[in-house]
Amino acid sequence: MDQSQRNATITYKPLLRSSAYIDGKWVDSTNGKSIDVTDPFTGGRISSIPLLEAAQVQAAVDAAARAFPAWARTPARERGKILRKLLDLIILHRDDFARLITLENGKPLKEAYGEVDYGAGFVEVYAEEGARSLGEIIPAPVPGRKLFAEKEPVGVSVAITPWNFPLAMLTRKFAPALAAGCTMIAKPASQTPLAALALAQLAEEAGVPPGVFSVVTGSAGMIGDIFTSSPIVRKLSFTGSTEIGIKLMAACAPTVKRLSMELGGNAPMLIFDDADLGTAVDAAMIAKFRNCGQSCIAANRIYVQKGIYDTFVNTFQQRVAAMKVGDGLEMDTDIGPLIDEAAVAKVTEHLDEAVAGGGKLLAGGRGEGRMQPPTLVSHVAQDALLTREETFGPLAGLIAFDSYDDAIRLANNTPFGLASYVCSTSYETINRASRDIESGMVGVNTGLISTPYAPFGGVKLSGIGKEGSKHGLDEYLNLKYVCQSGI
Ligand code: NAP
Repeated sequence: MDQSQRNATITYKPLLRSSAYIDGKWVDSTNGKSIDVTDPFTGGRISSIPLLEAAQVQAAVDAAARAFPAWARTPARERGKILRKLLDLIILHRDDFARLITLENGKPLKEAYGEVDYGAGFVEVYAEEGARSLGEIIPAPVPGRKLFAEKEPVGVSVAITPWNFPLAMLTRKFAPALAAGCTMIAKPASQTPLAALALAQLAEEAGVPPGVFSVVTGSAGMIGDIFTSSPIVRKLSFTGSTEIGIKLMAACAPTVKRLSMELGGNAPMLIFDDADLGTAVDAAMIAKFRNCGQSCIAANRIYVQKGIYDTFVNTFQQRVAAMKVGDGLEMDTDIGPLIDEAAVAKVTEHLDEAVAGGGKLLAGGRGEGRMQPPTLVSHVAQDALLTREETFGPLAGLIAFDSYDDAIRLANNTPFGLASYVCSTSYETINRASRDIESGMVGVNTGLISTPYAPFGGVKLSGIGKEGSKHGLDEYLNLKYVCQSGI
C-alpha cells in the first residue's frame, strides 16, 4: 500500500483532521504554518497540524474559562449522558480509530484495537462515576453546627500527553475532567496528534459544548508556557518524561495549580525459582514487548533467580525469535517501527553496552532504521545501562539474582517507581514482594495490569496522582468544607 492508500483506510473522513479544535471551531494557524504528521512505518505524510500562534492558544484558555460555569452547573448525570454518547461513537468508529493510531504511532493493529478499548473504557467509567462524587456530613463537635464537605470541579484544566498511547493517555484525563465538571484544553504529542483531534470530532458530535474541550497543536514550549503561567488554568495533568514533568511542576508553582504527573518508569520484573515457567514467560513477553517496548510500564529490567535462569532463557528465547516484525496495519504483526531515530539510537546504545559488558545476544540484534527486531540479551551485568535508564524499545536484558533480598535490593535501586512485576507461586513471596517493592503498581504473575477500573500512577520520580477508577475523578475535584453555625 502506498501512503495515500494507507491514509484511505480511515473510512469516516471527519476523523482525519488537519486543524486544531478551539471553542467548538476547527482552526488553522493564523500564520499559515503547519507541521507534518508522518507514518513511522513509511515515513510518508498522513496529515498536518497547525503550528498555532500564542494568541490562539490563549483563546482556547479563555474559551475554557467562559464555558466552565455552565458546564460545572450542568447536572453530573447530564454530563454523564454526553460521555455515554461519546463512548457509543468511539465504539462505532473503533476500526477507524485503531487504524489511525497505527498510522500515526506505528503500533501493531491488534494492539491499537486494545488501546481503543482501553481508552474508551475511561469514557465509560467516568460517564458513570461523575454522578458518584459524594460529599460527607461530619458530626459536629459542638451543638448548633452543621459541618459538611462537598466536591466541586477544580476549574479550567489542561492535559499534555505523549505519543506512545495517543488516545488512551488523553481519555484518562479528558473523561474524568469533563465528568467532574471541569473544562479541558489538550495538547497532544506533535508526532501523534490525530487521535486527539478525532476524539474532539466525536466529542462535538456527542454534544460536548463549545469551549468545554479544545485541542491545541504546535510548539510544546510555547503552549506549555501559556498553560503553566495562566492564573485561569487551575489544573495541569501531564503524561510524559520525568525531565519535562519536573520543568512543568516548577513552572506551575507560582500559580499553585493542582498537578497530576504520570512520568517515566524503570519497571523491574522479578522471576523467582518457584515461578510457573509458562506464566512467567507470558508475563515477560507482554510486559516487555507490548507497544514495541515503548510503554512507561514496560518491564525494563528482568531479574531471574539462578535456579530457573537457564530454563527461562531457553523458553523466552524461542518466543522472542518467533515474533513477527513489520507493518502495523497487518493484523499478524507483533512488532512495528519505533517512533523515531532518537528512539532507535537509545535502544542501540543500550544493546551495545549490555553486550560489551559481557551480555550474550540470543535473539534479534541491530535492525534497519526504525524497524528494530525483538532482541534478547542474557547474562547482563547488574549495573548495565539498560537497568538504569528506560530503554523504551524491544530489547530484553536478563539479569541473574541469588536471593529474595538481592531481588528486592535490585528492584528498588532506582529513583523511579511506576510499575513492577513479580512471578512466583509462593504466597509468602508474592505478599512480601508486593509490600517491599517501592512502586505505585505491582503485577503478580501477569504483565498486563492496566485497566480503567484501577488506580494507575507512580511514586518517587514516576509521578504524583492517580488515573482511572474513582481516584482519577478526585484529581479534578476540590473538597470544600462548609461549617454552618446557629442552626
Ligand atoms: P516528553 O518528551 O516528555 O513529551 C510528552 C509531551 O510533553 C508531548 O506532548 C510533548 O510535546 C510535550 N512537551 C515536550 N516539551 C515540553 C515543554 N517544554 N513544555 C510543555 N510540553 C512539552 O515524553 P515522550 O518522549 O513523548 O514520552 C515518553 C515518556 O513518557 C517516557 O518517559 C514514558 O515513561 C512516559 N510515559 C509515562 C506514562 C505514565 O502513565 N506514567 C505513560 C506514558 C508515557 P511535543 O510532542 O510537541 O514535543
